[in-house]
Amino acid sequence: MSSSTDGTAANSLAAERLDADVVVVGYGPVGQAAAVLLAQHGWRVTVVERHSSAYARPRAVSFDDEVGRLLASAGIADGLRHISQPGSDYVWRNAAGETLLHFEYTGAGPSGWPVTSSFHQPALEELLDRRARSVPGLTVLRGLSAVSLADDDGVVTLTTEQPDAPGTNCAATG
Ligand SMILES: Cc1cc2nc3c(=O)[nH]c(=O)nc-3n(C[C@H](O)[C@H](O)[C@H](O)COP(=O)(O)OP(=O)(O)OC[C@H]3O[C@@H](n4cnc5c(N)ncnc54)[C@H](O)[C@@H]3O)c2cc1C
Repeated sequence: MSSSTDGTAANSLAAERLDADVVVVGYGPVGQAAAVLLAQHGWRVTVVERHSSAYARPRAVSFDDEVGRLLASAGIADGLRHISQPGSDYVWRNAAGETLLHFEYTGAGPSGWPVTSSFHQPALEELLDRRARSVPGLTVLRGLSAVSLADDDGVVTLTTEQPDAPGTNCAATG
């Protein structure tokens, strides 16, 4: 299987069957990291993502030292340092400016990364996508929604549909 991250791949794969060891549904940061980690261990991984391109706005804003270690082990340590910034504290204040809650963070946590780091989610997704493109055995199909799963004697079939072309589907088995 070749790596592909553009939505056009879905069109040519309509109504085809793809074999994979693992199918990941969703290409947000969690799906991206899981797909890369699995493929790094030699599994054939196919990801299906309903949106044809990445969402351009941040949602998640921080990660802890253990998530830092996990993301680094997906092969993006240098880039991750570049797009994140260690945090020093976390404060809640009320409307009068009185402190309600205050945690101080310093240094690295047990997993070796800062206890907390702020980051820009679209930049992280771009990093992980770039890494995913370089890992053998990992295929990303954008523009496909997972619609059903069937388990037939140990072979699981995931049926997908192109949101803009209902009724068209492809399946991955593993
Ligand atoms: C307004 C808003 C604010 C948020 N603020 C924060 C915050 O401050 N801190 C924080 O940690 N988190 C925040 N979140 C949550 C944030 O979205 C997640 O932390 C982060 O994006 C989760 O990553 P993920 O990979 O698990 O899921 P997502 O980023 O949601 O990715 C899941 C992907 O799966 C795809 N998908 C879903 N179903 C299917 C299907 N059937 N077929 C194909 N593809 C599918 C979706 O299109 C999506 O791309 C916020 C979310 C929103 C909406």
